[in-house]
Amino acid sequence: MRVWIDQDLCTGDGICTDHCPEVFVILEDGIAYVRQDGLALNDPGGSQSLADVPDRFEQVVVECSEQCPGECIFVESDDELLVGISAGPAESLRITPD
Ligand code: SF4
Repeated sequence: MRVWIDQDLCTGDGICTDHCPEVFVILEDGIAYVRQDGLALNDPGGSQSLADVPDRFEQVVVECSEQCPGECIFVESDDELLVGISAGPAESLRITPD
């Protein structure tokens, strides 16, 4: 599972950092960022702003996303990604009888 924050919508209230400081951090600008392996990923909108979530924090990260007043914590699950990948080729290979 991966998580990212849309910093444009973050209110900086710190709910996410209160509940899961291992994954979220507020930097000097007063806005929340995700972190991975202890490092803040402070490249809003960039590919480096997507953090892998350790299994033991998945539940609390989902709860943070649900409680975030800015609605700006976005979670991507591995299952959703797999569904998206398998649907395309299967559809394109479908053969219809004459
Ligand atoms: S809970 Fe949401 S709005 Fe609040 S600091 Fe975290 S990301 Fe920002």
